Amino acid sequence: MRGIIVISCRHCGFVYTQGSSSVTVYDNFSLEVGAGECLALIGPSGCGKSTLLAMLAGLRPPIRGSVVINGRAVASPRLKTGFILQEYGLFPWLTVEGNIRLGLRIRGTDIRQEQPRIDALLDELDISVTKKRYPSQLSGGQRQRVALARVLILDPDLLLMDEPFSSLDALTRESMQQLLLGIQKNHHLTTILVTHSIEEAVLLGTRILVLTAMPAQIAGEIANPLAGSPGYRASEEFFLQTRRVRALLGKSPGTDPTPAAAHQETEGGPAHA
Ligand code: ADP
Ligand code: MG
Repeated sequence: MRGIIVISCRHCGFVYTQGSSSVTVYDNFSLEVGAGECLALIGPSGCGKSTLLAMLAGLRPPIRGSVVINGRAVASPRLKTGFILQEYGLFPWLTVEGNIRLGLRIRGTDIRQEQPRIDALLDELDISVTKKRYPSQLSGGQRQRVALARVLILDPDLLLMDEPFSSLDALTRESMQQLLLGIQKNHHLTTILVTHSIEEAVLLGTRILVLTAMPAQIAGEIANPLAGSPGYRASEEFFLQTRRVRALLGKSPGTDPTPAAAHQETEGGPAHA
């Protein structure tokens, strides 16, 4: 059961215009995401995944159609939407704690009152020891944990993630994937995760949506109720799901899996020569 619909993208159109040329990324695109889902979005490079997240975040409103979240049209960034980018977006001149406090300060929150929540979050994300350090003194995994803490302190109900783990090494990526599973549960988040890794989509997405090349449409979707369950990564069903996703990507014209994605698909999973 998908539960009540929280996000609805209805007949959306989106065009980038540069001088006299224009690129139609979406033309009559519709999507619904239910409360508590982790929707994994995968599709050819340049098909419009990041643009879709920006539309849902209210950063790039559609030129036609509408984005509605919890019954309200989204035309500008929404307070309860958290956005995590691949490149972390931390401020290098602020410490870890300073970065986490910033959003609270902007919202005019009393920091002293929030300090116990900040400390609990640092603890949950296992970055307490880094709190006085600057981003340049952190590993990639730690930076992504700080980026998560900075968003979670604002108590979002929706987490949009754009290839958040793609620049991390394989082991760090696996620990971040586990961390995300725990966070989704603890913070009751609905998540949309863009990834170029078929394995990551199957591991984390309770539903996997495969997009076509531009103007992007839904090539197909796969229910994946075992996402996040213990031992799933090593199971036969996991392997079958990766094959289903790959088949849908194969049908999608313009699919050009990057070498990185092709490499990841063979990592860590069951032997599938
Ligand atoms: P993805 O995230 O799936 O790789 P994007 O959403 O970033 O794709 O981009 C979709 C298409 O729009 C691509 O062809 C890209 O070149 C183009 N595009 C992205 N951002 C801009 C921009 N700011 N101006 C013009 N074209 C853009
Ligand atoms: Mg992108």
